[in-house]
Amino acid sequence: MQQPSVGRIVHYVSYGTPGGEYDKECRAAIIAELTGDPDHPDQVGLAVLNPTGMFFNRTVPYHDGAETLGSPDCPTSESHGTPFRYCACSWREASHAGGTWHWPERV
Ligand SMILES: [Zn+2]
Ligand SMILES: [Zn+2]
Repeated sequence: MQQPSVGRIVHYVSYGTPGGEYDKECRAAIIAELTGDPDHPDQVGLAVLNPTGMFFNRTVPYHDGAETLGSPDCPTSESHGTPFRYCACSWREASHAGGTWHWPERV
């Protein structure tokens, strides 16, 4: 993975609302600080540019959006993805978690 550095533009994933009125969305964000936390090396401080205002968060974890693998012994693993979007075995479909950052997708 690329090394984050101050001033780079990344994406911050806004939280969707539980009722689904708002979906999770990528927002532009500027890396404002590297927290240098040895336990969370990918964590950064961000200035997030929402269309309606900015906000700041000093402890944003990185999440690449990849599928989370569940237990290899899952009895319903064939349902992963169809129709399950997540499973009791801790499998989760690929999607960016709210409240995390990632490098902008290539378009
Ligand atoms: Zn994105
Ligand atoms: Zn499962």
